[in-house]
Amino acid sequence: MTFSVHGLAVSRGIAIGRAVLVASSRADVAHYFIQATKTAEEIQRLRVARDAVAEEIARVQRDLPKDAPHELSALLDVHLMLLQDEQLISGVKHWINDRLYNAEWALTTQYEIIARQFDDMEDEYLRERKADLEQVVERILGHMKGVASPVLPAAVAGSRALRQQDLLLDDTMDVPLVLIAHDISPADMLQFKQSLFVGFATDVGGKTSHTAIVARSLDIPAVVGARSASQLIEQDDWVIIDGDAGVLIVDPSPIILAEYGFKQRQGELERQRLNRLIHTPALTLDGQKVELLANIEMPDDTAGAVSVGAAGVGLFRSEFLFMGRSKLPDEQEQYLAYRKAVEGMNGLPVTIRTVDIGSDKPIDKLAGRAQDGQLNPALGLRAIRWSLADPPMFLTQLRAILRAAAHGPVNLLVPMLAHGSEIRQTLSLLDHARAELDNKGIAYGPVQLGAMIEIPAAALTLKLFLRYFDFLSIGTNDLIQYTLAIDRADEAVAHLYDPCHPAVLRLVADTIAECNAQGKGVSVCGEMAGDSGMTRLLLGLGLRSFSMHPSQILAVKQQVLRADAGKLQRWAQEVLASEEPASLL
Ligand code: PEP
Ligand code: MG
Repeated sequence: MTFSVHGLAVSRGIAIGRAVLVASSRADVAHYFIQATKTAEEIQRLRVARDAVAEEIARVQRDLPKDAPHELSALLDVHLMLLQDEQLISGVKHWINDRLYNAEWALTTQYEIIARQFDDMEDEYLRERKADLEQVVERILGHMKGVASPVLPAAVAGSRALRQQDLLLDDTMDVPLVLIAHDISPADMLQFKQSLFVGFATDVGGKTSHTAIVARSLDIPAVVGARSASQLIEQDDWVIIDGDAGVLIVDPSPIILAEYGFKQRQGELERQRLNRLIHTPALTLDGQKVELLANIEMPDDTAGAVSVGAAGVGLFRSEFLFMGRSKLPDEQEQYLAYRKAVEGMNGLPVTIRTVDIGSDKPIDKLAGRAQDGQLNPALGLRAIRWSLADPPMFLTQLRAILRAAAHGPVNLLVPMLAHGSEIRQTLSLLDHARAELDNKGIAYGPVQLGAMIEIPAAALTLKLFLRYFDFLSIGTNDLIQYTLAIDRADEAVAHLYDPCHPAVLRLVADTIAECNAQGKGVSVCGEMAGDSGMTRLLLGLGLRSFSMHPSQILAVKQQVLRADAGKLQRWAQEVLASEEPASLL
């Protein structure tokens, strides 16, 4: 039966595919397709791991002391039994043979199906057996680690290109897949950059949560904040993800499928039209030059930025190098990553932001300062505060960025500053990093220094910032969050997260005006910059530098080409003075 689930639209377009339910805790399990000729090998890999676990359990059982409680031995029997469970084994084989999932993916998929059945059981004893099954699965996964099959062949990875007509190929490995999860951390989201999925949806998250931001960078239709989607949707259900309306349609009827197939093709045509703008200079009708820059998370993302004609990287979120790993990257690893980004942009400037760890971008517990238990992580030890709390770590990053600057133009951007003392400490550590490199005779290059304006206190003390910095970059995602006291990642208050609130627009407008008056560079690198509905207003407020996901650049360029910046000035002031600015856009 067809039903729909509503959430928040975060990434445009229509995706149609079969649901793959991924539990948050399982996102770190490898997801890839195997070659059709390798299914027996994959099943064998699983069998070896299962036999090893069985042997392990049998050994423990043999070695149990005579006076060990009887329950312990009985529990091990249950584990041995679960290892032989027909539903588990036949299910896993199905995912490998029929869908070409790798063994780990097949195992966790089947586990999720059985776990739900356990959840629905009346009998408490049986319900609790879910924990045993989880332990058994965990053990098998542990044994399979390091014994991986080759990664998916490129031809199979390109499932993104599949469209409506491909649905006819039902039950073959070519069926497009959509990812459905309760939540996915930004770090785990990065794993899905391989375009294995054609769309995704999560139960939680706001429009500018970092998970949504990474999803947008994948350039696939996405919906977040869809509340109980991961409970309502079942493994393998057909789902339409409407990333424009923020709706999921489950088990669609043929008529609905046909309608969305049509919309999907319209979207593709629009995309092709926009592609014609790649080499068109970004000039307004009255000849104002506008800089359209890219936001990236990883050095390899520069390829996407170059392909749409970005004028440089306006925001490299370096924290993604630090997340999802048990040890922080050392100076050499960071230097190579930054250098790769710099070289990837072929002489165009790259703005590297120092780490913005904390809040919804935690690092692995093993890698350092965990954030567990903080009542208000967004107001806690985040971004520059985290860096200044650990000078050796910060110096390591500063040295790596300075060294990368020897290979091309680099801007160094500092997030979340609010206090003069933080600014002075940062500058002094930067001097220190340079002195360390001088002492060791290591080459480094010059950097332009920028500060993010993302705390209202910063936007209200611009003169202080402009005394120390070469340029400012407005982080509207956090500026909105902190101005309106709305958690950007909380779907329950998403309706109050308003980029057009007069207070937000006032802070943005004043920052642009003050920088322009002092001849300092200013750009917007929050999601507002990539929203083509806001382009005219920002141009009217005097903004000439926008940084956004590469996938948004051409739509924004189209707005720039159609705009007369001079004429927009007066209108922008009217919008600014209005109590309901959104109604004038
Ligand atoms: C912002 O806050 O607008 C920004 C660009 O930084 P991030 O989204 O990474 O917090
Ligand atoms: Mg921010």
